[in-house]
Amino acid sequence: MKEDKLRNKQVQFFYSGATLDIKSRIVYLKKLKECIKNYEPQITEALRLDLGKGSFEAFSSEIGLVLHELSMHIRNLRKWAKPQRAKTPVHAFPSRSFIYKQPLGRVLIISPFNYPFLLAVGPLIGAVSAGNVAVVKPSELTPHTSIVIKDIIEKVFKPEYVEVVQGGVDVSRQLLDERWDKIFFTGSSRVGKIVMEAATRNLTPVVLELGGKNPVVVDNDANLEVAARRIMWGKLLNAGQSCVAPDYLYVHKDVSKIFLQFMKESITRFWGEPKTNKDFTGIVNGATVQRLAKLMKDVHLFHGGNFDAVRKYVSPTLLTDVSNDSSIMKEEIFGPILPVLEFEDFYEVIETVNKREKPLAAYYFSENKEKQKYFLQHTFSGDAMINDVVLHFTNNSLPFGGVGNSGIGKYHGKGSFDIFSHERSVMKTSTLIDLPLRYPPYKEKMFRLLHFLFR
Ligand code: NAD
Repeated sequence: MKEDKLRNKQVQFFYSGATLDIKSRIVYLKKLKECIKNYEPQITEALRLDLGKGSFEAFSSEIGLVLHELSMHIRNLRKWAKPQRAKTPVHAFPSRSFIYKQPLGRVLIISPFNYPFLLAVGPLIGAVSAGNVAVVKPSELTPHTSIVIKDIIEKVFKPEYVEVVQGGVDVSRQLLDERWDKIFFTGSSRVGKIVMEAATRNLTPVVLELGGKNPVVVDNDANLEVAARRIMWGKLLNAGQSCVAPDYLYVHKDVSKIFLQFMKESITRFWGEPKTNKDFTGIVNGATVQRLAKLMKDVHLFHGGNFDAVRKYVSPTLLTDVSNDSSIMKEEIFGPILPVLEFEDFYEVIETVNKREKPLAAYYFSENKEKQKYFLQHTFSGDAMINDVVLHFTNNSLPFGGVGNSGIGKYHGKGSFDIFSHERSVMKTSTLIDLPLRYPPYKEKMFRLLHFLFR
């Protein structure tokens, strides 16, 4: 559908009130869930074609999380959408106060390549659950998944309700030129700035789910074997192309040797020969393989370091003797390469971490409760984990998102419903009693009463 025509139809549909009924929203969410279940083989195959993703990760980190999110919205929407009672001050007697959750209107969702199904459909669940109409623009880098998303959406929604618009940067720019009631963008911080600039033209509110360099600090009292396993799992999930993946690691000098050994063993135990392992995800394209290969130049390889642009492969890689000024420490890696640096002083390493932009996630491994507390208080990131990585993303009872350079706004579960809703404050009052307090001519006695009430 042409943009203007689509816009008019969606606006008309929204103002018809068709999305206001909660029961009907639940029906749509259920339909979407059923349809996704039926499409599981097609989604899995598309993810294999686009990213070389195996079926376990396709389900555990994309389809399954979307189904889980849908179930939560279906179960809780009635409760979330109910107007909440608020207190009313005495001077407003006999009013009653409420907070209503209203849909925003027409929203735009732009998604990235790395979890192309999850990050397009995940936000859409919140948009629909909150009663909006939406346009979804999936990534052009994962065309097979984008086609399946379009198929699913067309089966469940009319285009005036939800439409999928395919295309690359040009299409994205055209969409950004339109007027929206909210833009929900997931992608790089670089493009996030472009999105925000476009949004300012119409004072459109934005949610920016961005990336960054997520630090992991492993202390000398950590459970090293478990830490190594968990970190290598989180780093190599989706071949490191996760916004919450550990980006660089600081390990205490006293335990670095053994810890590196544990990490190396975990890689071999998990992946055997990753190049031929169909469960090890590929890199999105040859150009990205070249970018990653460049980052491995002139650094000390502890493990891995292989790449093949034709087969879109980069091997799990550990780098040591990394300097803070090397190019790998200057940009988000977004691949299966982990630079490992050493530290001696816990408080100094926190200062070093804090010199960088605020990341999306920060991770600390230690058994010391005091130091855990210190880490949580003195580092700043979208979210954080103690003694684990990545898993917090899958807990939809926790709002997820960045801070500063890693983003604006939180979603998942109720957070998704809230971020696509407007909280409208409402007071309802009666005309039976009409206290004279507020009306002129103002009287001294009333003035004193006012001082008392507003004390
Ligand atoms: P990207 O920013 O290159 O692209 C994301 C989307 O923006 C795509 O749909 C693309 O078509 C569009 N786009 C690209 N350039 C544009 C431009 N100049 N103008 C308008 N639109 C444009 O991101 P990517 O490479 O697909 O994804 C990787 C990035 O996303 C990483 O930085 C990662 O950390 C981040 N990410 C963040 C989250 C999160 O939840 N915070 C999740 C996944 C990925």
